[in-house]
Amino acid sequence: MLFLFLRKYFKSNFKLLIVKELIFVIIGNGVAGFNAAQSLIKGAPTDSKILMFSSEKYGFYLRPKLYEFLRQDLKIEDVISYSKEYYSKLGIELHLEEEIIAISPKDKIVISTVKQYSYDRLLLANGAECYCPVVPGINLLNSFSLRSLDDAIAIRTRMKTSKQAVIIGGGLLGLEVASACAERGLNTSVIEFFPYLLPRQLDAEGGKILQNILEKNQNITFYLGVKVQEILGKDHVEGIKLLDGIIIPTDIVMTCTGITPRIDIFKKIGMKTNRGVIVNDFLETSIQDIYAAGDIAEHGGKVYGIIPPSIEQAKVAAQNMMKPRSVKYTGSKLSTSIKVTKLLVTSIDYIGKEEELKYSQRKFLIPNEDIYCKIFLDQDIIKSAIIIGTKNGISLLKGNIGSSYKSIEEELNQLFSETK
Ligand SMILES: Cc1cc2nc3c(=O)[nH]c(=O)nc-3n(C[C@H](O)[C@H](O)[C@H](O)COP(=O)(O)OP(=O)(O)OC[C@H]3O[C@@H](n4cnc5c(N)ncnc54)[C@H](O)[C@@H]3O)c2cc1C
Repeated sequence: MLFLFLRKYFKSNFKLLIVKELIFVIIGNGVAGFNAAQSLIKGAPTDSKILMFSSEKYGFYLRPKLYEFLRQDLKIEDVISYSKEYYSKLGIELHLEEEIIAISPKDKIVISTVKQYSYDRLLLANGAECYCPVVPGINLLNSFSLRSLDDAIAIRTRMKTSKQAVIIGGGLLGLEVASACAERGLNTSVIEFFPYLLPRQLDAEGGKILQNILEKNQNITFYLGVKVQEILGKDHVEGIKLLDGIIIPTDIVMTCTGITPRIDIFKKIGMKTNRGVIVNDFLETSIQDIYAAGDIAEHGGKVYGIIPPSIEQAKVAAQNMMKPRSVKYTGSKLSTSIKVTKLLVTSIDYIGKEEELKYSQRKFLIPNEDIYCKIFLDQDIIKSAIIIGTKNGISLLKGNIGSSYKSIEEELNQLFSETK
């Protein structure tokens, strides 16, 4: 009797038991889009479809490669990690040079410059663009910002015929671009609004040490704690005027003053946005079946703007797109190790001036070796650290955030006394 009932029940509900093939659409083929697609390929049912859209014309590349592109005479192929063929082999439908210009969540479609496409789950991974301050002359010829490979191609072409360069912004991007200009023999200046370099990664003392090293090794001139009043020139850039009246002649200007997430099309459909698209711990936006990851996403009030969190978010978003609310994202650690002109600069959980004011500090400084390490403590507990010029201490400190300083003091003393 029970058997007959079950047979009848399953027969009439058979359709409900079939897993529907899902259409996953990803807007953006940067590091977030690419990593989400990789996770979907591994985990989604085989009859699912994955469609990706990129407004750029290239396959996948990592943006830090653009520094090398500026420094050396790399070919475009040397920058691209995966071409369109790679995606085809995996069964991903990649639409290059096809921008998504609108979304209709009600009909579950995205509309591109070519046609419209349905989605079941949509990932916003369309990143950010450069933030450029509103300064007279910013749109003159030879005034650039660097985000894409096309930007890098235009900048490198101009660098080759320039003698002088000015970079606005003394953050990570600005310093890398400045060092590429200096290495190509351009007379290079950096203008920074903050009184020291890398204000997001370093304290004032660390910033000053970095500045000394760059002045000594790279012959870069720094103008710190100043603001640009105007970029001078009729149709093309001829110089920069600072608010204090100083004029710096130049053939090329590069603005490296941060990023703006590309939120315009999402604001139009009433999605919750702030600086970026607001996401919850499942990387869901305020609209059902739409997720966000990478530089577009704002989680816990933060737009990280760097690669490691973009990858972490992409993987979690993809899991939740396959199986809603299955994995939580609880935020990323703010640790970065970067090479500024061959010098390793590491910032572990450092959040800026707040740390300096709130916490006590321990310091290791080896001036002749250009090595500096500062550790921020709440009582005896390690909260954050900055290290310049060595890889020593990085993994020890990373692994001991939240632990007692005393427990590793001896090891640190030994590491830094051995540091060369
Ligand atoms: C020169 C440079 C160097 C960097 N170096 C480092 C570094 O050393 N370490 C680090 O951690 N981070 C670095 N970053 C930051 C890092 O690259 C970003 O955090 C990361 O690229 C964010 O990835 P994303 O996929 O969210 O966005 P993006 O990389 O910006 O990719 C988004 C993609 O979406 C496309 N797109 C946008 N809108 C649309 C649309 N409407 N339709 C279709 N496609 C669209 C864009 O063209 C772009 O290709 C660097 C950035 C730059 C520019």
